[in-house]
Amino acid sequence: PSSHFTQDMENLQNCFAGFRHKYRLIKRIGEGTFSTVYKAEDLQYDRYDNSWDLDKETDKWTAPPLKSFSSESSATLGYPSQSQSQARRRPKYVAIKKIYVTSSPTRILNELELLHDLRGCKSVCPLITAFRWTDQVVAILPYFRHADFRDYFRNMTVPDIAIYLRSLFTALASVHHHNILHRDIKPTNFLYDPSSRRGVLVDFGLAEREGYDCKPCLCHDDPAARKAKLRPLITGSQKGGYLREDTRPSRRANRAGTRGFRAPEVLFKCTEQSTKIDIWSAGVILLTILSRRFPFFNSADDVEAMIEIATMFGRQRMQAAALLHGCMLETTIPTIGRSGFSFEGIILWSTSRNEQQKDQLSEDEKLAIEFLGRCLELDPSRRISAEEALQHEFLRMGLD
Ligand code: ADP
Ligand code: MG
Repeated sequence: PSSHFTQDMENLQNCFAGFRHKYRLIKRIGEGTFSTVYKAEDLQYDRYDNSWDLDKETDKWTAPPLKSFSSESSATLGYPSQSQSQARRRPKYVAIKKIYVTSSPTRILNELELLHDLRGCKSVCPLITAFRWTDQVVAILPYFRHADFRDYFRNMTVPDIAIYLRSLFTALASVHHHNILHRDIKPTNFLYDPSSRRGVLVDFGLAEREGYDCKPCLCHDDPAARKAKLRPLITGSQKGGYLREDTRPSRRANRAGTRGFRAPEVLFKCTEQSTKIDIWSAGVILLTILSRRFPFFNSADDVEAMIEIATMFGRQRMQAAALLHGCMLETTIPTIGRSGFSFEGIILWSTSRNEQQKDQLSEDEKLAIEFLGRCLELDPSRRISAEEALQHEFLRMGLD
């Protein structure tokens, strides 16, 4: 691995002249489908008196100008300068996100543009700068210390969960306020430091503007009009039963995201997806923490994901949710009951308590479960918004 690492360093150095003098790569911290991320020391950090910093009081990143590092051979993507009045110390450590050359240029530009729009947003990791050399793009972000979700989620108390989610929903509220959908809310894209109890949202690689690439969906029609336009069914079989759904190939909808975190309207190929898809994914994170099971959903594909959700919510509610987007859903899968399970029941069961031990749920836990239900509403129009969520008693826990 260390030779790979030297090789990586060598490659970056070859692409970006002077890189060696700007950054010292420390280690590889992430390797995903679309990028490799390194922790690096910013060697010039004390040469500037303005910098990025997360304000402890407001949780806002102070926004210095996105300055062009003068570089002989690499093009810095130029962004307009901002006021220097809030200048702070530069972070000593940065995260260098090397975007794979296989990513499309529009996709890369999209990520950088959205990050630029979101600069200064609470709990969103800002972009310091970006470099391009031919097809290679690297984004430079302040390094944010965080722990691996799997190492802390089982030990969180309900107030801990409320603080974690308040931070996540603060980020979502500002992202959604800019009419941007993140599309890939999951633990690895929300960096959280349990010791300081702060978090930042990263990875806008799949993010998009609301309304971009939208076609009218039946979910915005009245129920009568909807009925007239129902779609034919196809059958997917599953151990001991079948699920018939109507994925007519001509219907195209953005399905980007991570399996297990996709909202039902994404699975039903709603063509007017909104910021509410992020709320569902945040709800899945909460369900994971409360049930102490990660991953909570473990589907290989969209049909399996529908089966998992249908098992929880029951056939009736799942069919109603499908109908909203003009989809008919039929199933004989024995695990999918008529009316599904309650969230309380699911959480009691997954934490080895049973329905009779309902009184074992603390008041705090009940409040968290009530909030969970607001996030995991099958109908996106009834699902809580990030703004509303921040006013919910659960997220305000300990505030007043
Ligand atoms: P990808 O598109 O490949 O998923 P991400 O932006 O999600 O890329 O980054 C991948 C991983 O790199 C993250 O899960 C996180 O562990 C790490 N990472 C990304 N940005 C930062 C940062 N600013 N500070 C610290 N670690 C980061
Ligand atoms: Mg990611």
